[in-house]
Amino acid sequence: KAKQIAGNSHVFYETGMSAEASARSELEYDLSRALDRNEFFLEYQPIVCSETRMIKAFEALIRWRHPQKGVIAPDQFISIAEATGLILPIGNWVIRTACEEAMRWPSPIGVAVNVAGDQFRDPTFLPYVRDCLRQSGLAPERLTVEVTESIFSVDPSIISDSLTELRAEGVKIALDDFGIGFSSINNLRRFPLDHLKIDRSFTAAMLGSKRDAELVDIILKLGSTFDVSTTVEGVETEPQLEYARSRGANAIQGFLISRPVAAGDVSAILDRNRVHHAKA
Ligand code: C2E
Ligand code: MG
Ligand code: MG
Ligand code: MG
Repeated sequence: KAKQIAGNSHVFYETGMSAEASARSELEYDLSRALDRNEFFLEYQPIVCSETRMIKAFEALIRWRHPQKGVIAPDQFISIAEATGLILPIGNWVIRTACEEAMRWPSPIGVAVNVAGDQFRDPTFLPYVRDCLRQSGLAPERLTVEVTESIFSVDPSIISDSLTELRAEGVKIALDDFGIGFSSINNLRRFPLDHLKIDRSFTAAMLGSKRDAELVDIILKLGSTFDVSTTVEGVETEPQLEYARSRGANAIQGFLISRPVAAGDVSAILDRNRVHHAKA
């Protein structure tokens, strides 16, 4: 009898599902097989010194080559991965691949990986990172873990301990998308951080109004107050770069410098960057 009810409700669920919900559950199913099918790859976007424009590091950004739908951006599937728990194996794949690929770049060029809250809270996370570093041979100082402030909202003391432990091994911590969501100045006091990345929505707005320009200025000052280096994300124009630089931003990331590129193109970008600066 229970089986019949379950069966009925299943039928109801299928036929009653909105087009959106059914597309999502299809994507969810495809996502569950994507890792085994080797459908993920990383692109890398340079992060440069605001003064010299020399490349300091690359941020690893995941993409999904869906067999029918083509390349899918992370905003379209990371939330599904988080909701289904798939973020743990996918996130592990990202860290391992980023460490291996960064090993082909000249030292001390670093690599930054985005890490979701669930990964960070997973007890196997730290040993896993250690293992990736050891197996790839990448110096821990070349790895940056990017987290958003949402991770601080659950178990802050556990998070703080993990951050401290990672840093003790040499890994750098960046607070990503700063200024949106759960932003709190207190987080800068409480948690050990190396970098502050100002969300690109501020960058887009900062030359449009005096208030938004001052806001970026204030966040950059906050960074220097708390002794963390600052990166302005989403820089698309020279005036944006110039403003960020003049207000003390340490680093710049954005389409003005380069879009995210395939792993195979990183060396060429590094060569061009070096040649450019040798000439200057
Ligand atoms: P994020 O970590 O803040 O990454 C920066 C995003 O801004 C990237 O989008 C990048 O392509 C985009 N971007 C960079 N410069 C510019 C610019 O000048 N203009 C504009 N309009 N956009 C720019 P992407 O690759 O689509 O990634 C979106 C978000 O997905 C990331 O934001 C990050 O939160 C998440 N994500 C990406 N890869 C991973 C991953 O491996 N794991 C996890 N958990 N999340 C990831
Ligand atoms: Mg990021
Ligand atoms: Mg960001
Ligand atoms: Mg973002």
